[in-house]
Amino acid sequence: MTSSPAVRAYAERTVEVRPTTARIDHQALAHNLGRVLAHVGPQCRVLAVVKADAYGHGAIEAASTFAAHGAWGLAVSLVEEGVELREGGIHVPVVVLGGVVPGSQDVIVHRQLTPVVWSREHLQMLAGSVRRAGARPLPVHLKIDTGMSRLGVLPGDLGPMLDWFCSDAGLSLRLEGVMTHFACADDADDDLSSARQLSVFADCLGTIAARGLRPSLRHASNSAALVRFPSARYDMVRPGIALYGAASGPEVQLSDLRLAMEVGSRVLAVRDLPAGARISYGGRHQLNRDARVAVVPVGYADGYPRSMSGQAQMLVRGHRCCVLGNITMDVCMLDVTDLPDVRAGERVILMGRQGSETLDVHTLASWASVIPYEIMCGISKRVPRHRC
Ligand SMILES: *Cc1c(COP(=O)(O)O)cnc(C)c1O
Repeated sequence: MTSSPAVRAYAERTVEVRPTTARIDHQALAHNLGRVLAHVGPQCRVLAVVKADAYGHGAIEAASTFAAHGAWGLAVSLVEEGVELREGGIHVPVVVLGGVVPGSQDVIVHRQLTPVVWSREHLQMLAGSVRRAGARPLPVHLKIDTGMSRLGVLPGDLGPMLDWFCSDAGLSLRLEGVMTHFACADDADDDLSSARQLSVFADCLGTIAARGLRPSLRHASNSAALVRFPSARYDMVRPGIALYGAASGPEVQLSDLRLAMEVGSRVLAVRDLPAGARISYGGRHQLNRDARVAVVPVGYADGYPRSMSGQAQMLVRGHRCCVLGNITMDVCMLDVTDLPDVRAGERVILMGRQGSETLDVHTLASWASVIPYEIMCGISKRVPRHRC
């Protein structure tokens, strides 16, 4: 079926008029990277973590900003995410944290991604691919599991991997980096387990050096660790959440960061409802006074968690207004009784600042009983990102 020009024009306009949007502040991204660079000093590089679409901020755009403002390279979780960056014209090193899934080795070599490796199978797959392609030696980063018990080679199993690197002699793979990851870096009460991990890592670095291998990039610290453990900075740090202006907790937050994402919408309709009316699914919220209720086109399908129902607030004209009743898939209801003349089209801030009020990602996370990462990554594809 062919649609008339008028219908097509309308359809295009409706795509553009979705009132619920996320504004991504690239000056804030650059500023936060600058804060990390200044904090760790000129000897230490920064691997900017842009996995999960740069924590919801848009991978290619965020990656370009970080690359242009002094990041040594970028880290993603998946090969697919690395390919997306390459297709987007990103040429700096891209480290794939999630390892080498069988079948991905040719793509890794072809796209010149830098895989994290922790088994001899990884090495054999990659080396085979490098040889078949007649490619230059591929840089890889060896991950050691020093106590997180997630990814990495256990220290006791390091020997056979080092044997492999020694016999390859850098012909197919180049051991560029060695890394580990802390389990409790964001727990301000924990020093012991992180100190133990650091000492295991130091032992492993000693073992590697004793075999004559000279990886130039040793790295261990995420955003929290780069604040808490100066001795764990080594040659490079791997911040994610700090670059987006947040932290896993107030004790581990770098000072003077700026939140880079603002989520806003516009009032879809205003309703005058009588005392006693029940609001939304389940009817759990009953009005105890005559009220004006603004309907806002935001719901859990946009990543505004339903579990915040009963606690969430939004900003209208710089005032906090309560979300009434259950948050639904597409819509929620806001009490604007105390704000005269709120009309359809009025701007609403879900996350960000308006006037002197701020609702930051940590506040939303506490309402939803999740960590700030989940709020950031959860803002769905249905919410257009606008660069500002
Ligand atoms: C996600 C991730 C990071 C970044 O963590 P933040 O807490 O966001 O700074 C660093 N290293 C690894 C291995 C990761 O998976």
